[in-house]
Amino acid sequence: MRRFTFLLLAGLLTFQTFSQEKMQEKPKLVVGIVVDQMRYDYLTRFWDKFGENGFKKMINEGYNFKNNHFNYVPTYTGPGHASVFTGTSPMNHGIIGNGWYDKFTHESVYCAGDNSVTPVGTQDDAGKMSPHRMKTTSFADENRLHTQMRGKTIGVGLKDRGSILPAGHTANAAYWFHGADEGKWITSSFYMNELPQWVEDFNASGNVESYLKSWNTLYDIETYKESGSDINEFEGGFKGKETASFPYDLTKLGDTDRKFEILKATAYGNDITTDFALAAIDAEELGMDDDTDVLTLSYSSTDYIGHNFGVNSKEIQDTYLRLDQNIADLLTHLDEKVGEGNYTIFLTADHGGVDVPAYLESVNIPAGYFESDEFTEELKEFTAEEFDEEDLIESVYNSQIFFNYEVMQEAEISFSELQSKLAHYILQLDQIDKVFTRDQLSSGSFVTGAGAAIQNGFNQKRSGDIVYVLDPATIVYSRTGSTHGSGLMYDTHAPLIFYGNGVKKGSTTQRTEIVDIAPTVSTILGISFPNATTGKPLFMMLDTGESESSE
Ligand SMILES: [Zn+2]
Repeated sequence: MRRFTFLLLAGLLTFQTFSQEKMQEKPKLVVGIVVDQMRYDYLTRFWDKFGENGFKKMINEGYNFKNNHFNYVPTYTGPGHASVFTGTSPMNHGIIGNGWYDKFTHESVYCAGDNSVTPVGTQDDAGKMSPHRMKTTSFADENRLHTQMRGKTIGVGLKDRGSILPAGHTANAAYWFHGADEGKWITSSFYMNELPQWVEDFNASGNVESYLKSWNTLYDIETYKESGSDINEFEGGFKGKETASFPYDLTKLGDTDRKFEILKATAYGNDITTDFALAAIDAEELGMDDDTDVLTLSYSSTDYIGHNFGVNSKEIQDTYLRLDQNIADLLTHLDEKVGEGNYTIFLTADHGGVDVPAYLESVNIPAGYFESDEFTEELKEFTAEEFDEEDLIESVYNSQIFFNYEVMQEAEISFSELQSKLAHYILQLDQIDKVFTRDQLSSGSFVTGAGAAIQNGFNQKRSGDIVYVLDPATIVYSRTGSTHGSGLMYDTHAPLIFYGNGVKKGSTTQRTEIVDIAPTVSTILGISFPNATTGKPLFMMLDTGESESSE
């Protein structure tokens, strides 16, 4: 046995030396795709309906991480996109929610909102955005530094935050879709003072308008056996149509004075995103010189549709079958323009999504709805009675409770007493599963479980003083549609597929984490890791000759 191990090791050493001698050609382009609210099981549930050139191609010829998770709470879009590209969690990058209560300015802030910049391509406030609240670098930033700013970064996303946070602080451009009454791709003065001609041309091309048509299923709806019935009580639907069922005439539904807004919430939003991304590759000549470029690409119609119709709907199934075609078109385009083997692409999500709790209840699975306004009132009543002081609770936001430090100080109420009495009280309430205090989260490290996830999402400076966790499948939401935000598996388990340059063929069921993506890309590119990286390179898939040395 011992002799066998020795021979095996000797063999590996030879293999390593050989591999290290042949220098890997770097990819000319990295494409990082985030699909908003994509659960891992969409890959397996809809597998038989996918074509050969989209998801299946990436999985069959690339590397599939089957047990990939978010390692923090809350699992929202802003934190998700930031974590994928910075290789760390809200603890460090500071994007602790889509919005949060800013205890220094005493107001709610939006993760990408920036009043110091002006809109470009529109007059609307939808253009007042930048990455200034993200405190750390993304791998796209590190690539810019490494290439002396010659390697480009372009961000494309239906949502502003899905475009801006991935592209980082040094991006040449980030573009996002402004629906409303305009239906245009826009940006902000953080990046440029006017849209480049190719974006103007795209906006004038009638592309967006052409999707104001009927949305029916891609294939015969009778063949959609992998989703629930088309009409049921667990779906929302569109204004102007009684039932949440196919087909949807998009020329007639939604708000007439904001006629493009509805497109975001249909499968066509992903088509529009793809059309614009392909135009960006061509116009910006991405991947066409020796310095590696980065394209960040965020598909968000999936999220709007999940929120409206739920993760088990026919609408979701149709959206993923169509997204599969978008991915195929993108791969074909990259093969033609950048060349097969010259690019590296990954696909993941920003969070998952829960089955509609009302549906779960109907099949006897514990689930529920939490009334957060009532909860906030209860907290205020409790603290007023217990400490004989009003206004001790300043804000309750993203399952975090912010104390009013001024009132606390004036009334000489001890922080730790308020913290422990309130935590104890909260834990007695129905639908509350766990409670963590600032003191717990700031001292020592949780290694696994909910504590570790809460801690990874807890930014000492920005987060609140008590964090509470609801029962499984219990959400603050309407009784129709799905949402997300928890540390439970339906929200944390996300796909991760790598394909192309530097990537071996294979798959693993070992647990990997979202924060591992950025250091993995950095390793392929041979650049510095993003400055607060906490993840580690996914050695099993790296085609560098080092992967064999793990055991
Ligand atoms: Zn969402």
